[in-house]
Amino acid sequence: MPKRLLPRRPQALLLAGGLLILTALGAAAAFESNRHLKEKQGAIVGLHRQAAEAQRLLLLLAESHAATHQWLLSGRAEDRDAAVRSGDALRHTGRELAGRLAAPLDVRGLPSLGATLEHVLRVRDQAHALNETAGQEAARQVAAEGSGLAATAQMRDVLGEFRQGIEADLTALDAELREGQWIGLLLVGASSAAMLAMLLAAIGQLARRRSAAERASAAMDARGREVAALFRMGELLQSSHAPEDIRRVVSHTAAELLPALSGAFYVFNNSRDRLDMLGLWGARGLPPDLPEHFAPEECWALKRGRPHGPAAGDSLACDHLGGAETALLCVPMQARGEVYGVLSFFHPERRAMSPQQVELAQALADGVSLALANLALREKLRNQALRDELTGLHNRRFLEETLPRVLAHAERRNASLAVMMLDLDHFKQVNDRYGHATGDAVLREVGRLLLARLRRMDLACRYGGEELLILMPDCTAAEALVRAREICAQIRGLREAIGGTLPQVTVSIGVAAWPEHGEQIGRVIEAADAALYAAKRAGRDRALPAEATVEPLPLPG
Ligand code: GH3
Ligand code: MG
Ligand code: MG
Repeated sequence: MPKRLLPRRPQALLLAGGLLILTALGAAAAFESNRHLKEKQGAIVGLHRQAAEAQRLLLLLAESHAATHQWLLSGRAEDRDAAVRSGDALRHTGRELAGRLAAPLDVRGLPSLGATLEHVLRVRDQAHALNETAGQEAARQVAAEGSGLAATAQMRDVLGEFRQGIEADLTALDAELREGQWIGLLLVGASSAAMLAMLLAAIGQLARRRSAAERASAAMDARGREVAALFRMGELLQSSHAPEDIRRVVSHTAAELLPALSGAFYVFNNSRDRLDMLGLWGARGLPPDLPEHFAPEECWALKRGRPHGPAAGDSLACDHLGGAETALLCVPMQARGEVYGVLSFFHPERRAMSPQQVELAQALADGVSLALANLALREKLRNQALRDELTGLHNRRFLEETLPRVLAHAERRNASLAVMMLDLDHFKQVNDRYGHATGDAVLREVGRLLLARLRRMDLACRYGGEELLILMPDCTAAEALVRAREICAQIRGLREAIGGTLPQVTVSIGVAAWPEHGEQIGRVIEAADAALYAAKRAGRDRALPAEATVEPLPLPG
């Protein structure tokens, strides 16, 4: 699993925290805007109240003024009472109102309203007093020409200015209020938009993370399947005992791991001078005329000891592919310092192989190489246990283990089983004259000759010393005798065949067959042995059948 920057839960917490902060900011903005609105509304109400009070004071003033004039003109008692009442109202309520309006007026730098009111009241009191003492005319005089009118006018002016100031303030406040509403709206809108944007971003982020996680998980799944397939291949190859097993496992695994590709599987032959095709798999792009065999020099991957082909960035093509346009890659199979063969991959499109698939092809080749190395090692160990090291022929233990099986097979098929006993002639003398090492070399060459000339089904064993036994299934004594004589001639010609580097040797052979010379295979071997000694006695360098005791010497030439 790739490392996550944060585990799933903290991511959700971060998102929730972000949203919470934004919501809180939006709410704070809305609250602040509302508070501002309320404040302005309060201020407007205050101004309206002040305007109303100023209006009321003006009204009281006007009433008092009008009532006083009415009384002074008419001189009537009821007008006098009305003038006193309105004067009292102005004194009490007017003073109260003027007290309340004094502070706002001071703020505006207007003349003291209280002082003006007191002046008006004083003039009025003066007029009343004069009316009592000096008569109505004197009082009218004071009120008409005196400071009464001027004071009233001054106060009206003051209040008028005050009202105008309030009007201006109201207009400004109204504008401010509208502005505040807009700012509040904008703040709430902006915070909502930010919240929405963050929500969308968070959702997008989560979706991206999710799809990235899904992609990573899919890649992990694919990797896991590949590893599992390679592991299964390893297990199957461990149990593979023959090249055919390996071919089937490789074809199956290659088709599973690289289903879009086709391929060919070549392994070295025993003498390592040629690669033989072990198998093919897939169909897409597989050239129809791939060679069954090719020389190691024809493959760049084998020569370079690394993958070669267009998929690995190489433009130079391998000769063994015959210019196939679909060839993508050759991967050498090498393990424990030994090269076992090559895997070639094909596809109609050159870009069909990603670097990851090249790695996969390499992993496949590595797995197969190990299996081939194990197979070779097993074969070597088996050979060591069942073959004679000097001659390369089977050993006596192998003969004893195999003989019952070979015989049972012959019995089942009602077939004949021939036995040849061979012994080198005067071998002691060879050792004495040329040395034991030369004697060994002669034995090695004789072994090689027999392995090359006998049929695949024949089993040649080193029976003991320089005595050899050959089992020939499906072969009568007469047929075996023919083969034995050929062998005699071939060994006689061995020195010449290998360029005269070893002394000339000959061999004597006794031939018998089951069931012709005995129901028990032991009896048959004894009969062959007896024939061998008969051949020795008859002059050596010859093959004799079991029945015959004497055979004429071979004709010269
Ligand atoms: P004959 O024709 O009667 O068989 O004569 P011979 O000298 O071959 O006699 P015999 O078969 O009894 O002698 C076997 C000799 O082969 C004795 C031994 O020194 C030699 N010999 C057996 N095993 C080996 C071997 O592994 N290497 C070598 N160099 N010589 C061997
Ligand atoms: Mg001998
Ligand atoms: Mg002998």
